[in-house]
Amino acid sequence: METLSLLIMVYCVRVKPTVLFTRVMPDGEIRNLAPGGIALLSALDLTAKEIKHDLTVTAALDGNHSGPDDPHLHGNALDVRTHDLDNPQHAVETLIVQLGPLFYAFLEDPGTDNEHIHCQVKKGTVYPPATSPTIET
Ligand SMILES: [Zn+2]
Repeated sequence: METLSLLIMVYCVRVKPTVLFTRVMPDGEIRNLAPGGIALLSALDLTAKEIKHDLTVTAALDGNHSGPDDPHLHGNALDVRTHDLDNPQHAVETLIVQLGPLFYAFLEDPGTDNEHIHCQVKKGTVYPPATSPTIET
């Protein structure tokens, strides 16, 4: 009996070795990737498969900080490499569709050495919500 074999590319999320998913704060508090950050990883995995290109997380709790409320510091934001992507804007748009209305993603510092996708739980949003929200779009 003859067997058919297919070569299938499996696209996935990769992680830069320096990325922290757990962080000890100066006061000793231990913070981990929050449920919102886990949902971001899930959406990134779906996006990688959709755009047929691996996506690499370059920052989590170690991300650049805009202050104590920065979502990176609370495990609710991720940065993603774009320098290896042919069409970073398409990746952002695909990610936004996967994330849904409780999240936010954009191309930060486009056209510079620091260009990357920043994605986070939408400001003012608690994730997961207490109840399943109904959102008008
Ligand atoms: Zn960021």
